[in-house]
Amino acid sequence: MKNLKKDFPIFEYNPDLVFLDSAASTQKPRVVIDAEMEFQSKYYANIHRGIYDLSAKATSAYDQARITVQKFINAKYFEEIIFTKNATEGINLVATILAKDYFHDFDEIIISTLEHHANIVPWQLIQKFKNIKIRTIPIDDDGNIDFDAFKALFSDKTKLVAIAHVSNVLGNILPVEEIIKFAKKKNVLTLIDGCQAVNSFKIDVQALDADFYVFSSHKLYGPTGVGVLYGKKDILNSLSPYQGGGDMISTVSFSKTQYNTLPYKFEAGTPAFVQAYGLKKAIEYLENIGMNSVYEHNQNLLYYAKKRLEQKFLDDIKIYGNVKDKIGIISFILRDLKSKIDMIHPHDVATLLDEKNIAIRTGHHCAEPLMTRLKIIATCRISFGVYNDFEDIDKFVARLKDIQKFFKR
Ligand code: PMP
Repeated sequence: MKNLKKDFPIFEYNPDLVFLDSAASTQKPRVVIDAEMEFQSKYYANIHRGIYDLSAKATSAYDQARITVQKFINAKYFEEIIFTKNATEGINLVATILAKDYFHDFDEIIISTLEHHANIVPWQLIQKFKNIKIRTIPIDDDGNIDFDAFKALFSDKTKLVAIAHVSNVLGNILPVEEIIKFAKKKNVLTLIDGCQAVNSFKIDVQALDADFYVFSSHKLYGPTGVGVLYGKKDILNSLSPYQGGGDMISTVSFSKTQYNTLPYKFEAGTPAFVQAYGLKKAIEYLENIGMNSVYEHNQNLLYYAKKRLEQKFLDDIKIYGNVKDKIGIISFILRDLKSKIDMIHPHDVATLLDEKNIAIRTGHHCAEPLMTRLKIIATCRISFGVYNDFEDIDKFVARLKDIQKFFKR
């Protein structure tokens, strides 16, 4: 894949930047930045409200954005695409509406040990008003799901499986196809957190057959402030709204209020329509590259980085999540050669990398139960975007070697 840095203004303003934190949020291509600017400058008016031309144009742009998302993930109907604030809001939305209309006391939800907090805490929050049990799928030291243990978690009380498509800490691609298939057999709903998957390979929600699929625009080269909840039409139709307000109603009176049809029923208030338009441009940008090329590029970077780290650091590095199916996320700790205590603290590593304008992520990555399972408090995490190249990895590895030497003095 040709070098795409030139498409991203951040590298024009900051040419030495080695950005290895795309799993937290991706940089934005010029086409996305320009599209938002153009929208705000030339076509801006609130949607769905005005009957004047400007409002009609803004409404049409928002509608087109929905169709672009629909096609991107191969949803059957545009009504199945709900714009949210982010993936977190998508999961909270589903948790809340299921708690209102679907869950009963003593029902059970299955999640995994490696979930992001966004796929843990919303389920804990609804425990305040429904007596629901959360059961967790165990994993091994590399983050593999124990499939037999998963199957054994099912009971006649199981109502939902909510699981990440890709771990944001380890990069492991989870066997969601098998998980969904098994859940279907048991008549159990499924929600897939696709935050780290949708930017890395082609998603086909019809082939997957998940009931809900969520992701954020900002990890998909699009703007912040907008996310997507895909939900099957018949399921969304059967559930009550999440929030009340403008747009989600068809008529309102003090005696009876009627709700709007999908997808508006779940989009109360003025949505982030400019940002949704930016997301449309981001998707078009990715489709222009081709999702297969995006995946291949990401895999090439992953294998190159892993090889370089293993060659340079041998036994002095511990890489987590050594599995076959992975995307370009590597979590690791560096051993402290001098004191022989387990590691150089990841925050020290990141601070010293930052001195050379190399950005990586450290900490628990919003996955504390996974850290507890792996018996660590933090890792260093590098992750790749379409703009990264082998030179970025070489610079990172060279600086990491210097850091290790620095701690050995
Ligand atoms: N799930 C996963 C797997 C993630 O990586 C993230 C973001 N780190 C989220 C959920 C939450 O995304 P957001 O903060 O954009 O809602």
